[in-house]
Amino acid sequence: MDISVVIPLLNEEESLQELHDWIAKIMQSNHFSYEILFIDDGSTDKSWDVVTQLSKQNSCVKGIQFLQNYGKSQALHAGFKKVQADVVITMDADLQDSPEEIPELYRLITKEDYHLVSGWKKKRYDSKIRKNFPSKLFNWAARKTSGLSLHDFNCGLKSYKLKVVKNIDVYGEMHRYIPVLAKHQGFNRITETVVQHQARKYGETKFGMSRFTNGFLDLLTIWFLTKFGKRPMHLFGLLGSFMFLIGFLATGYIGALKLYKLYHGFKTILVTDNPWFYIALATMIIGTQLFLAGFIGELILRSKQRENRYQIKDVI
Ligand code: UDP
Ligand code: MG
Repeated sequence: MDISVVIPLLNEEESLQELHDWIAKIMQSNHFSYEILFIDDGSTDKSWDVVTQLSKQNSCVKGIQFLQNYGKSQALHAGFKKVQADVVITMDADLQDSPEEIPELYRLITKEDYHLVSGWKKKRYDSKIRKNFPSKLFNWAARKTSGLSLHDFNCGLKSYKLKVVKNIDVYGEMHRYIPVLAKHQGFNRITETVVQHQARKYGETKFGMSRFTNGFLDLLTIWFLTKFGKRPMHLFGLLGSFMFLIGFLATGYIGALKLYKLYHGFKTILVTDNPWFYIALATMIIGTQLFLAGFIGELILRSKQRENRYQIKDVI
């Protein structure tokens, strides 16, 4: 099979038939063999009925229905697990992404041998203040932390080689950073292509303002995981040792000062009246805890299943 199209959806009943017909038309005119996998992420409208109908009309249509709404990342994860074709294309169900882009996305993966091609909605049809500006900031931060020069990390329209989707773990709300996850796994042939974008035809956006707070927190997580996820001791051990050292030096200083004063018969104060005492106490405790955090992190990594640690390019 040439192409698997993965479509996560939440309450998109009005769009599905139109989207299906459009994709089917493109596939037929390009002679692609394909499957369309709809993942119903807990819709409460008639979306699943429509998907069932479509699968009766067209044997290329498959569906997964979630028990409740788990989020777009989970929907993509479930889709990625099931797909079969050499090239996997994801798109939103709301007709904002255009199926006309499929042939080009396919070509870039097969002919130009990219691992991942991300759409770039160069001209966006979304609310300016609510989306365009924050998303610019967001993409800038993602570019800086990941080193990938993409303009539109969170574009729903993307294409992948099959092995890429089988080896990345999209969880939480990480669908915004799939290119970063892919790069993290060593799939570094990543590029972007300008895609058409339409205004939402039916229904409303499913993400509120929380997309920005969650988005930034996820960015921090991903940055942190990329940098220290495989070697927590390098961060926590260093910080911990540094803290502990401060405490250790402070203790030495307090002790030496007291002894020195006693020896020379100066007036002394109680060790616990010296502010350095509290600094020493706090830094030594915090230092030990940081060190332990790093150590436990290393132990957890050690006992974790050893799959997914590397990708093999060739074996002879
Ligand atoms: N979606 C989903 N689960 C969710 C939220 C959204 O499967 O919890 C789907 C939604 O139906 C659409 C795609 O993800 O197909 C993108 O969502 P939306 O269009 O609301 O996002 P926006 O275009 O506003 O970024
Ligand atoms: Mg949309």
